[in-house]
Amino acid sequence: MIPKNHPRYNSLILREKIKNAYKLGYLADSGMIAHGRGEAFDYLIGEKTSDNSKIAIEASVAMILLAENPVLSVNGNTTALVIDDIIKLAKEINGKIEINLFYRTKERVDIIANLFKEKGWENILGTNNDELLHINNIESPRSTASKNGIYNADVVLVPLEDGDRAEILVNSRKKVISIDLNPMSRTSKKSTISIIDNVTRVIPSMIEIAKNLKNKDKDYLKEIVNNFSNEDNLKGSLKTIDLVKGKYK
Ligand code: ATP
Ligand code: MG
Repeated sequence: MIPKNHPRYNSLILREKIKNAYKLGYLADSGMIAHGRGEAFDYLIGEKTSDNSKIAIEASVAMILLAENPVLSVNGNTTALVIDDIIKLAKEINGKIEINLFYRTKERVDIIANLFKEKGWENILGTNNDELLHINNIESPRSTASKNGIYNADVVLVPLEDGDRAEILVNSRKKVISIDLNPMSRTSKKSTISIIDNVTRVIPSMIEIAKNLKNKDKDYLKEIVNNFSNEDNLKGSLKTIDLVKGKYK
C-alpha cells in the first residue's frame, strides 16, 4: 500500500498501474520504458497542465467535434492509465476506439479488447476479428488500421504514439492529435496538434471541455482551430520547461 501522504503518491499510483498491466500481459516491457521516459518529461513541465497545454487541449476538442469520423487510438499504456476516461470521452464526442499496439500480439489485443468489454464498451476496433488494412498501401506493421476506424478516420487522437506511425498518419492527410510529454519527440514534431502533457490529465480535461464545446456552433469551433498554431504552441511548451527549471536556480 502506498501511503496517501507520500510526496510522490500520484506518480507511484501510476507506476503501480503500469506494472500491473505488464503482469497481466497486455503491456510490453518497452511500455514500461516509455512510461519512465514520460515521467522524466513530466518533472520538467512541473507535473501539471500548463496554460499552453490548455490551449492545445481546447483546439483538439474543437477539431474532434468538427470531425466526421473521429477515432481514439489506445495502446497498453493508455489502457492501463485511463481506460474509464477514454470510454467517457468516446461517448461524449461520439467517437470510436481502436486498439493500436507497437508490439502487436494476438494475446495483448485480446486482453485489451476484453478489458474494454468488461467496462461496457463492446464495439472496440482493431481487434483480431477486425479487417486491418494498410494505410497508403505501406507494407509496415506501423501502417495497419481498421477499415471502419483509423483507416477511414479524418481525425485521430494518439496518446503515446510512435514517431513513424504518426508520420504515416499525417502523410495520409489525417489530422493527428498526439498526447506526448516530450515536446522534442518525432511524434510531437509531426502531429497536427501536439498536446505536451500527461495522458492522465489530458483525457479528463478533454471530457470537461467537450461538455461545454458540444453546444457551440461549427463556426465557433472552426475559429478555435484556426486561431491555433502548433508551432507556437510547441515553442510555448519548451518555454514551460525553462520556467520550471528557473524555479530551481
Ligand atoms: P519518437 O516519437 O521520437 O519516435 P519514441 O516513439 O521513440 O519517440 P517512446 O519512448 O517509444 O518514444 O514513446 C513514448 C513517448 O510517450 C515518450 O515521448 C514519452 O514522453 C511519452 N509518454 C510516456 N508516458 C506518457 C504519459 N503518461 N502521458 C503522455 N505521454 C507519455
Ligand atoms: Mg519510436
